Amino acid sequence: MSASTRVHNFCAGPCTLPVSVLEEVRDELLDFDGTGMSIIEASHRAAAYDAVHMQALADFRSLAAVPDDFAVLFLQGGASLQFAQVPMNLLADGETAGYVNTGTWAKKALGDAKKVAPVYEAWSGADGSFSRMPSTDEIEVRDGSRYLHVTSNETIGGIRFPALPTVDVPLVTDMSSDFLSRPIDWDAHDLVYGGAQKNLGPAGLAVVVVRKDRLSTHGRDLTSYLDYATHESNDSMANTPPMFAIYVMGKVLSWMQAEGGLAAFEQRAAERASLLYGAIDGSDGWYTCPVDEASRSHMNIVFRLPDEDLEKRFVAEAAEAGMVNLKGHRSVGGIRASVYNALPVASVEALVDFMAGFRSSNS
Ligand SMILES: *Cc1c(COP(=O)(O)O)cnc(C)c1O
Repeated sequence: MSASTRVHNFCAGPCTLPVSVLEEVRDELLDFDGTGMSIIEASHRAAAYDAVHMQALADFRSLAAVPDDFAVLFLQGGASLQFAQVPMNLLADGETAGYVNTGTWAKKALGDAKKVAPVYEAWSGADGSFSRMPSTDEIEVRDGSRYLHVTSNETIGGIRFPALPTVDVPLVTDMSSDFLSRPIDWDAHDLVYGGAQKNLGPAGLAVVVVRKDRLSTHGRDLTSYLDYATHESNDSMANTPPMFAIYVMGKVLSWMQAEGGLAAFEQRAAERASLLYGAIDGSDGWYTCPVDEASRSHMNIVFRLPDEDLEKRFVAEAAEAGMVNLKGHRSVGGIRASVYNALPVASVEALVDFMAGFRSSNS
Protein backbone atom coordinates (compact mmCIF):
# COMPACT_ATOMS: atom_id res chain seq x y z
CA MET A 1 0.00 0.00 0.00
CA SER A 2 1.38 3.38 -0.92
CA ALA A 3 0.78 6.66 0.88
CA SER A 4 -1.69 7.69 -1.82
CA THR A 5 -4.05 4.81 -1.02
CA ARG A 6 -4.45 5.77 2.61
CA VAL A 7 -7.90 6.66 3.92
CA HIS A 8 -8.94 9.82 5.72
CA ASN A 9 -9.03 8.45 9.25
CA PHE A 10 -11.28 10.26 11.74
CA CYS A 11 -10.80 7.66 14.46
CA ALA A 12 -11.34 8.86 18.04
CA GLY A 13 -8.40 6.77 19.22
CA PRO A 14 -5.97 5.40 18.30
CA CYS A 15 -5.27 8.20 15.88
CA THR A 16 -3.95 8.66 12.41
CA LEU A 17 -0.16 9.21 12.30
CA PRO A 18 1.98 11.26 9.92
CA VAL A 19 2.86 9.26 6.79
CA SER A 20 6.48 10.38 7.05
CA VAL A 21 6.67 8.87 10.53
CA LEU A 22 5.18 5.56 9.36
CA GLU A 23 7.62 5.46 6.46
CA GLU A 24 10.59 6.00 8.76
CA VAL A 25 9.35 3.25 11.07
CA ARG A 26 9.00 0.92 8.07
CA ASP A 27 12.47 1.75 6.80
CA GLU A 28 14.06 1.13 10.20
CA LEU A 29 12.11 -1.98 11.09
CA LEU A 30 14.68 -4.61 10.08
CA ASP A 31 17.79 -2.64 10.88
CA PHE A 32 17.67 0.26 13.30
CA ASP A 33 20.57 2.64 12.81
CA GLY A 34 23.05 -0.04 11.73
CA THR A 35 22.42 -2.27 14.76
CA GLY A 36 21.30 -5.18 12.57
CA MET A 37 18.07 -5.45 14.51
CA SER A 38 14.86 -3.62 15.05
CA ILE A 39 14.57 -1.20 17.97
CA ILE A 40 11.90 -3.47 19.46
CA GLU A 41 14.35 -6.36 19.45
CA ALA A 42 17.01 -4.35 21.26
CA SER A 43 17.66 -4.34 24.97
CA HIS A 44 16.03 -1.41 26.69
CA ARG A 45 19.40 -0.97 28.43
CA ALA A 46 21.27 -0.69 25.10
CA ALA A 47 22.69 2.61 23.92
CA ALA A 48 20.48 2.63 20.81
CA TYR A 49 17.27 2.53 22.82
CA ASP A 50 18.56 4.82 25.53
CA ALA A 51 19.15 7.55 22.96
CA VAL A 52 15.62 7.16 21.53
CA HIS A 53 14.07 7.22 25.00
CA MET A 54 15.97 10.23 26.32
CA GLN A 55 15.32 12.17 23.12
CA ALA A 56 11.58 11.52 23.38
CA LEU A 57 11.58 12.75 27.00
CA ALA A 58 13.51 15.87 25.97
CA ASP A 59 11.29 16.54 22.96
CA PHE A 60 8.10 16.25 24.99
CA ARG A 61 9.57 18.61 27.57
CA SER A 62 10.50 21.12 24.94
CA LEU A 63 7.23 21.00 22.94
CA ALA A 64 5.08 21.34 26.06
CA ALA A 65 7.48 23.88 27.66
CA VAL A 66 7.63 21.77 30.82
CA PRO A 67 9.51 23.62 33.60
CA ASP A 68 12.45 21.97 35.39
CA ASP A 69 10.51 21.46 38.59
CA PHE A 70 8.21 18.96 36.84
CA ALA A 71 9.06 15.35 36.01
CA VAL A 72 7.98 13.79 32.69
CA LEU A 73 7.07 10.12 33.10
CA PHE A 74 6.34 7.51 30.40
CA LEU A 75 4.05 4.88 31.93
CA GLN A 76 1.88 1.97 30.86
CA GLY A 77 -1.77 1.35 31.65
CA GLY A 78 -3.08 4.17 29.47
CA ALA A 79 -4.85 7.20 30.85
CA SER A 80 -7.19 4.83 32.68
CA LEU A 81 -4.56 3.68 35.18
CA GLN A 82 -4.01 7.33 36.04
CA PHE A 83 -7.58 7.59 37.30
CA ALA A 84 -6.33 5.58 40.30
CA GLN A 85 -2.61 6.34 40.28
CA VAL A 86 -3.12 10.11 40.53
CA PRO A 87 -5.02 10.05 43.85
CA MET A 88 -2.72 7.31 45.20
CA ASN A 89 0.25 9.59 44.66
CA LEU A 90 -1.18 13.03 45.33
CA LEU A 91 -3.47 12.39 48.29
CA ALA A 92 -2.29 11.30 51.73
CA ASP A 93 -4.59 9.30 53.94
CA GLY A 94 -7.84 11.22 54.51
CA GLU A 95 -7.02 14.05 52.08
CA THR A 96 -9.59 15.08 49.49
CA ALA A 97 -9.85 16.55 45.99
CA GLY A 98 -12.64 17.85 43.76
CA TYR A 99 -13.59 16.28 40.44
CA VAL A 100 -15.40 18.22 37.73
CA ASN A 101 -17.81 15.81 36.07
CA THR A 102 -18.01 16.86 32.43
CA GLY A 103 -18.81 13.53 30.81
CA THR A 104 -17.74 9.94 30.21
CA TRP A 105 -14.04 10.30 30.99
CA ALA A 106 -14.40 12.65 33.95
CA LYS A 107 -16.94 10.26 35.44
CA LYS A 108 -14.51 7.35 35.14
CA ALA A 109 -11.74 9.39 36.75
CA LEU A 110 -14.05 10.27 39.65
CA GLY A 111 -15.28 6.70 40.03
CA ASP A 112 -11.80 5.25 40.36
CA ALA A 113 -10.54 8.06 42.59
CA LYS A 114 -13.43 7.41 44.99
CA LYS A 115 -12.07 3.92 45.56
CA VAL A 116 -8.74 5.40 46.62
CA ALA A 117 -9.68 8.50 48.61
CA PRO A 118 -12.71 10.48 49.85
CA VAL A 119 -12.94 12.73 46.77
CA TYR A 120 -16.08 14.60 45.74
CA GLU A 121 -17.90 15.82 42.64
CA ALA A 122 -17.23 19.56 42.31
CA TRP A 123 -19.70 20.10 39.45
CA SER A 124 -21.85 17.89 37.27
CA GLY A 125 -22.96 18.43 33.70
CA ALA A 126 -25.49 15.59 33.90
CA ASP A 127 -28.49 17.95 33.96
CA GLY A 128 -27.49 19.45 30.63
CA SER A 129 -26.61 16.07 29.05
CA PHE A 130 -22.93 16.97 29.32
CA SER A 131 -23.26 19.49 26.51
CA ARG A 132 -21.13 22.23 28.03
CA MET A 133 -18.20 22.97 30.32
CA PRO A 134 -18.78 24.92 33.55
CA SER A 135 -17.47 28.39 34.30
CA THR A 136 -15.14 28.72 37.27
CA ASP A 137 -17.82 30.19 39.55
CA GLU A 138 -20.05 27.15 39.08
CA ILE A 139 -17.40 24.82 40.47
CA GLU A 140 -17.44 24.02 44.18
CA VAL A 141 -13.95 23.71 45.63
CA ARG A 142 -14.21 22.58 49.24
CA ASP A 143 -11.82 23.72 51.94
CA GLY A 144 -8.82 21.46 52.32
CA SER A 145 -8.93 20.15 48.75
CA ARG A 146 -5.51 19.08 47.50
CA TYR A 147 -6.39 19.55 43.83
CA LEU A 148 -9.19 19.99 41.34
CA HIS A 149 -9.37 17.34 38.61
CA VAL A 150 -10.59 18.43 35.18
CA THR A 151 -10.83 16.80 31.76
CA SER A 152 -9.70 19.45 29.29
CA ASN A 153 -11.50 17.80 26.37
CA GLU A 154 -14.30 15.24 26.59
CA THR A 155 -13.60 12.92 23.68
CA ILE A 156 -17.06 11.38 23.52
CA GLY A 157 -19.23 14.40 24.29
CA GLY A 158 -17.21 16.67 22.00
CA ILE A 159 -16.72 19.51 24.48
CA ARG A 160 -13.62 21.28 25.74
CA PHE A 161 -12.75 23.94 28.26
CA PRO A 162 -11.98 27.04 26.18
CA ALA A 163 -9.84 28.01 29.20
CA LEU A 164 -9.29 25.84 32.27
CA PRO A 165 -10.96 26.96 35.52
CA THR A 166 -9.00 29.42 37.66
CA VAL A 167 -9.25 28.14 41.22
CA ASP A 168 -7.25 28.48 44.44
CA VAL A 169 -6.03 24.88 44.41
CA PRO A 170 -3.71 23.21 41.88
CA LEU A 171 -5.27 21.61 38.82
CA VAL A 172 -4.81 18.00 37.75
CA THR A 173 -5.82 17.71 34.12
CA ASP A 174 -6.57 14.73 31.91
CA MET A 175 -5.41 16.00 28.51
CA SER A 176 -5.62 12.66 26.70
CA SER A 177 -7.58 13.97 23.75
CA ASP A 178 -6.07 17.42 23.33
CA PHE A 179 -2.48 16.84 24.42
CA LEU A 180 -0.02 19.19 22.73
CA SER A 181 -2.73 20.98 20.79
CA ARG A 182 -2.84 23.94 23.20
CA PRO A 183 -0.41 25.49 25.68
CA ILE A 184 -0.37 24.23 29.27
CA ASP A 185 -0.32 26.68 32.18
CA TRP A 186 2.16 24.85 34.40
CA ASP A 187 1.85 27.35 37.25
CA ALA A 188 -1.78 26.29 37.65
CA HIS A 189 -0.96 22.57 37.72
CA ASP A 190 0.37 19.87 39.98
CA LEU A 191 -0.07 17.22 37.30
CA VAL A 192 -1.11 16.70 33.69
CA TYR A 193 -1.62 13.28 32.13
CA GLY A 194 -2.86 11.63 28.99
CA GLY A 195 -2.78 8.49 26.90
CA ALA A 196 -0.57 8.92 23.83
CA GLN A 197 -2.93 7.33 21.35
CA LYS A 198 -5.21 10.30 20.71
CA ASN A 199 -2.81 13.02 19.74
CA LEU A 200 0.77 11.83 20.08
CA GLY A 201 1.38 8.29 18.90
CA PRO A 202 0.43 4.63 19.28
CA ALA A 203 -1.46 3.11 22.21
CA GLY A 204 0.32 1.52 25.13
CA LEU A 205 1.79 4.64 26.65
CA ALA A 206 0.67 7.33 29.06
CA VAL A 207 2.57 10.56 29.60
CA VAL A 208 2.38 11.96 33.13
CA VAL A 209 3.91 15.31 34.00
CA VAL A 210 4.04 15.92 37.74
CA ARG A 211 5.47 18.60 40.00
CA LYS A 212 8.56 17.03 41.57
CA ASP A 213 7.89 18.29 45.08
CA ARG A 214 4.58 16.39 45.09
CA LEU A 215 6.36 13.06 44.68
CA SER A 216 6.65 10.82 47.76
CA THR A 217 4.29 12.98 49.84
CA HIS A 218 1.45 10.43 49.94
CA GLY A 219 2.69 8.48 52.95
CA ARG A 220 1.12 5.36 51.44
CA ASP A 221 2.77 1.99 51.21
CA LEU A 222 2.51 1.86 47.41
CA THR A 223 3.84 -1.01 45.35
CA SER A 224 6.79 0.07 43.25
CA TYR A 225 5.16 0.46 39.83
CA LEU A 226 2.30 2.50 41.28
CA ASP A 227 4.64 5.01 42.93
CA TYR A 228 5.60 7.84 40.57
CA ALA A 229 8.88 8.24 42.48
CA THR A 230 10.04 4.86 41.15
CA HIS A 231 9.77 6.09 37.58
CA GLU A 232 11.10 9.58 38.23
CA SER A 233 14.34 8.29 39.73
CA ASN A 234 14.88 5.91 36.80
CA ASP A 235 13.98 8.16 33.84
CA SER A 236 10.92 5.91 33.28
CA MET A 237 13.14 2.86 32.79
CA ALA A 238 12.65 1.23 36.19
CA ASN A 239 11.18 -1.70 34.31
CA THR A 240 10.94 -2.45 30.58
CA PRO A 241 9.24 0.58 29.06
CA PRO A 242 6.76 0.33 26.14
CA MET A 243 9.66 0.79 23.72
CA PHE A 244 7.83 0.67 20.42
CA ALA A 245 5.21 3.19 21.51
CA ILE A 246 7.88 5.54 22.90
CA TYR A 247 9.98 5.18 19.73
CA VAL A 248 7.05 6.05 17.46
CA MET A 249 5.83 8.87 19.70
CA GLY A 250 9.37 10.23 19.67
CA LYS A 251 9.19 10.43 15.88
CA VAL A 252 5.82 12.19 16.06
CA LEU A 253 7.26 14.70 18.53
CA SER A 254 10.22 15.53 16.32
CA TRP A 255 7.86 15.81 13.35
CA MET A 256 5.77 18.28 15.38
CA GLN A 257 8.84 20.33 16.16
CA ALA A 258 9.82 20.44 12.49
CA GLU A 259 6.28 21.50 11.58
CA GLY A 260 6.40 24.54 13.86
CA GLY A 261 5.83 23.25 17.38
CA LEU A 262 2.86 23.69 19.68
CA ALA A 263 1.75 27.05 18.29
CA ALA A 264 1.46 25.59 14.79
CA PHE A 265 -0.61 22.67 16.07
CA GLU A 266 -2.91 24.89 18.09
CA GLN A 267 -3.51 26.93 14.96
CA ARG A 268 -4.09 23.83 12.79
CA ALA A 269 -6.59 22.54 15.34
CA ALA A 270 -8.50 25.79 15.21
CA GLU A 271 -8.46 25.68 11.42
CA ARG A 272 -9.75 22.09 11.21
CA ALA A 273 -12.45 22.81 13.78
CA SER A 274 -13.60 26.00 12.13
CA LEU A 275 -13.93 24.26 8.74
CA LEU A 276 -16.18 21.60 10.26
CA TYR A 277 -18.27 23.86 12.49
CA GLY A 278 -18.58 26.20 9.53
CA ALA A 279 -20.01 23.36 7.44
CA ILE A 280 -22.47 22.50 10.23
CA ASP A 281 -23.54 26.09 10.94
CA GLY A 282 -23.83 26.87 7.24
CA SER A 283 -26.23 24.02 6.54
CA ASP A 284 -29.47 25.85 7.45
CA GLY A 285 -30.00 23.51 10.37
CA TRP A 286 -29.64 20.28 8.37
CA TYR A 287 -26.52 19.35 10.30
CA THR A 288 -26.74 20.29 13.97
CA CYS A 289 -24.14 20.38 16.70
CA PRO A 290 -25.61 19.28 20.06
CA VAL A 291 -23.05 21.05 22.25
CA ASP A 292 -22.87 24.57 23.61
CA GLU A 293 -21.05 26.82 21.17
CA ALA A 294 -18.49 28.13 23.69
CA SER A 295 -17.58 24.57 24.69
CA ARG A 296 -17.14 23.11 21.20
CA SER A 297 -14.15 20.77 21.02
CA HIS A 298 -11.35 21.41 18.55
CA MET A 299 -10.53 17.70 18.50
CA ASN A 300 -13.80 15.75 18.46
CA ILE A 301 -16.48 17.41 16.37
CA VAL A 302 -19.87 15.87 17.04
CA PHE A 303 -22.97 16.50 14.94
CA ARG A 304 -26.38 15.12 14.06
CA LEU A 305 -28.33 14.67 10.83
CA PRO A 306 -32.14 14.99 10.54
CA ASP A 307 -32.63 11.32 11.48
CA GLU A 308 -30.74 8.19 12.43
CA ASP A 309 -31.31 6.52 9.10
CA LEU A 310 -29.54 9.34 7.35
CA GLU A 311 -26.73 9.12 9.90
CA LYS A 312 -26.24 5.45 9.10
CA ARG A 313 -26.09 6.18 5.39
CA PHE A 314 -23.78 9.12 5.97
CA VAL A 315 -21.26 6.89 7.77
CA ALA A 316 -21.51 4.15 5.12
CA GLU A 317 -21.22 6.45 2.11
CA ALA A 318 -18.39 8.44 3.69
CA ALA A 319 -16.50 5.17 4.19
CA GLU A 320 -17.01 4.27 0.54
CA ALA A 321 -15.53 7.66 -0.30
CA GLY A 322 -12.45 6.93 1.82
CA MET A 323 -13.46 8.71 5.04
CA VAL A 324 -13.59 6.24 7.90
CA ASN A 325 -14.43 6.02 11.60
CA LEU A 326 -17.09 8.73 11.60
CA LYS A 327 -19.70 6.94 13.67
CA GLY A 328 -20.38 8.65 17.00
CA HIS A 329 -19.69 6.78 20.22
CA ARG A 330 -22.35 4.14 20.91
CA SER A 331 -23.36 5.93 24.12
CA VAL A 332 -24.40 9.14 22.33
CA GLY A 333 -24.99 8.24 18.67
CA GLY A 334 -24.71 10.73 15.81
CA ILE A 335 -21.51 11.51 13.95
CA ARG A 336 -18.10 12.26 15.42
CA ALA A 337 -15.12 13.46 13.43
CA SER A 338 -11.95 13.25 15.48
CA VAL A 339 -9.37 15.60 14.07
CA TYR A 340 -6.17 15.10 16.03
CA ASN A 341 -2.73 16.65 15.57
CA ALA A 342 -1.57 14.45 12.71
CA LEU A 343 -4.76 14.65 10.64
CA PRO A 344 -4.05 16.74 7.52
CA VAL A 345 -6.32 19.73 6.89
CA ALA A 346 -6.92 18.13 3.46
CA SER A 347 -8.80 15.29 5.19
CA VAL A 348 -11.11 17.82 6.79
CA GLU A 349 -11.60 19.59 3.46
CA ALA A 350 -12.57 16.26 1.90
CA LEU A 351 -15.13 15.68 4.67
CA VAL A 352 -16.59 19.17 4.33
CA ASP A 353 -17.04 18.57 0.58
CA PHE A 354 -18.66 15.23 1.27
CA MET A 355 -21.03 16.83 3.81
CA ALA A 356 -22.19 19.40 1.26
CA GLY A 357 -22.76 16.72 -1.38
CA PHE A 358 -24.57 14.39 0.99
CA ARG A 359 -26.87 17.14 2.16
CA SER A 360 -27.79 18.27 -1.35
CA SER A 361 -28.59 14.74 -2.52
CA ASN A 362 -30.69 13.98 0.60
CA SER A 363 -32.66 17.14 1.31
C1 LIG B 1 -9.26 7.87 25.65
C2 LIG B 1 -9.33 8.66 26.90
C3 LIG B 1 -9.01 8.09 28.14
C4 LIG B 1 -8.65 6.62 28.30
O1 LIG B 1 -7.44 6.36 27.71
P1 LIG B 1 -6.80 4.90 27.75
O2 LIG B 1 -5.40 5.16 27.36
O3 LIG B 1 -7.58 4.07 26.79
O4 LIG B 1 -6.91 4.40 29.14
C5 LIG B 1 -9.06 8.90 29.25
N1 LIG B 1 -9.42 10.19 29.16
C6 LIG B 1 -9.74 10.77 27.99
C7 LIG B 1 -10.11 12.21 27.96
C8 LIG B 1 -9.70 10.02 26.83
O5 LIG B 1 -10.00 10.58 25.65
